[in-house]
Amino acid sequence: MMQATQTQATDKLTAAAKAPAFANGRLSIVVVGGGSAGWLTAALLAADHQADPRVSVTLIESASVPTIGVGEGTWPSMRATLARIGISETEFVLSCDASFKQGSVFRQWRSNTPADCYYHPFTAPVATNELDIADYWFAYQQQVEFAAAVSSQPAVIAAGLAPKRIATPEYAFIQNYGYHLDAGKFIALLTQHAKRLGVQQIIDDVVAIQSHPDGRIAALQTMQHGALPGDLFVDCSGLQSLLIGRHYQTPLLSVQQHLLNDSALAVQVPYGDEQAPIASATLATAQTQGWIWDIGLPTRRGVGFVHHSGHTDAAQALSTLARYLQLSEQEFSARYQPRTIRFTPGYRQQFWRHNCVAVGMAAGFIEPLEASALVMVELSAKFISEQLPRSLAQLDIVGARFNQTFRYRWQQIVEFLKLHYVLSTRSDSDYWLAQRAETSIPASLQEKLAMWQHFVPSRYDLPMAEELFPAASYQYILYGMRHFPASERPNKASLRANQAFAEVQQKTQQLMAGLVSNRELLQQIKAHGLQKI
Ligand SMILES: Cc1cc2nc3c(=O)[nH]c(=O)nc-3n(C[C@H](O)[C@H](O)[C@H](O)COP(=O)(O)OP(=O)(O)OC[C@H]3O[C@@H](n4cnc5c(N)ncnc54)[C@H](O)[C@@H]3O)c2cc1C
Repeated sequence: MMQATQTQATDKLTAAAKAPAFANGRLSIVVVGGGSAGWLTAALLAADHQADPRVSVTLIESASVPTIGVGEGTWPSMRATLARIGISETEFVLSCDASFKQGSVFRQWRSNTPADCYYHPFTAPVATNELDIADYWFAYQQQVEFAAAVSSQPAVIAAGLAPKRIATPEYAFIQNYGYHLDAGKFIALLTQHAKRLGVQQIIDDVVAIQSHPDGRIAALQTMQHGALPGDLFVDCSGLQSLLIGRHYQTPLLSVQQHLLNDSALAVQVPYGDEQAPIASATLATAQTQGWIWDIGLPTRRGVGFVHHSGHTDAAQALSTLARYLQLSEQEFSARYQPRTIRFTPGYRQQFWRHNCVAVGMAAGFIEPLEASALVMVELSAKFISEQLPRSLAQLDIVGARFNQTFRYRWQQIVEFLKLHYVLSTRSDSDYWLAQRAETSIPASLQEKLAMWQHFVPSRYDLPMAEELFPAASYQYILYGMRHFPASERPNKASLRANQAFAEVQQKTQQLMAGLVSNRELLQQIKAHGLQKI
């Protein structure tokens, strides 16, 4: 840990300010914030550039401002990120109380009936690169649900099975998967690993910002370590949004006109039995005034009620969560101390200003449906690392491209999450009516919905090379919610499509016979570890 005195730090700052920026390609990166955004970004930058002595990474985090403490569902992208950082999957699974997540199960989103349920699995539909299988499925829509027709994963999830076997190497899969994890333990592992990669950790509070005349940040003034100079500053300060928000006064663009939810009430629920099954997907159950996430870790569940403070008060939120857990309000209050988390759904007008880029909650946050926050952190960290600016001229160019790319991604998150509400037929509260009011639907989504009256979602609707939600994700939601094209589909049939449907059925039978349960695989990993890649 850096222990510079105030004078040393001031001298360093003066020297840094006088030296030409990025001299000899030298780059001192300072990350503010030690939540999962800060440590993931620092670790990825350090891992990617560890062979380059001109790049240094320092992370400063406050001992008094806690991390958000939630964020337990990841996407499959996390496997590649962890491998790239150099963390072993066995170590990750065991130290983060992690389990395998194969997608989401949406219950009671279409209608308020207990049987209403559909899957958004992580595995792409069969034969994705050969044909648009959705077009061939319409003929069978009365017989088999879309997700089950095009992927074995819904059956694997329903049976609580693991996505791989003990002999499957680290990070490899039989069925695509991400993780459910303990957010606090994940940060602890990332901290330890990033420090091994050479990230310098400073525990202190940033209290002021010192600027260059051209608007770039020159240094962070800390409480005990004096001034901390740098060339590139990554704002991972969470909802404080210290640099991009408070210092640069970059407005937060609220998206509450599209997505109402601004509150969550969260608890950790122990299993009644330590051998209880661990769910293989996030369960997202719609409620009259919101929805509840239910995430199974090996030692407990994480459960939270996401809602809108304007429609639900604290007492109603508590009783909704108690009812979900099949407890009376008195029993619930005696057992749990739920945490209320409030947020304004939205994202910054710009994420990159001068030599500062915001990642994680500092850049924005929209409700956790589809758990898209950590993947945005991964994508941001990758972008910064791969396009690392080495001169003042490059700063503005890279910054503009970053802003453009991530604005598109945030807009897509709004659109994709909104789709879940728009397709619902629930009318058991004003909340649901407000969530799908026509005026609340982004114009871009209205256009797509009009298009999907005639065509299946395809790559033509989503032109970016690295789309956050590809056409298949839209298909899983649209057809899971039974929203079919209104115009008559050509009666398509092909030998290849029929073969593909048969392959899914055959593979499903093999997997049901050949995969162990989520819990059993975790126990095997504890006993033997996974094979190193
Ligand atoms: C209810 C809810 C559920 C969620 N579920 C999911 C999910 O399932 N999947 C998912 O991907 N994401 C989820 N998220 C989002 C996820 O939790 C965050 O994106 C992730 O934890 C990253 O947070 P962060 O690091 O940006 O912020 P934080 O964890 O808040 O960290 C902020 C850091 O900044 C530091 N800091 C603040 N001020 C100062 C200062 N002055 N000086 C020095 N340091 C300072 C703090 O000490 C802390 O270390 C959820 C979020 C919420 C609210």
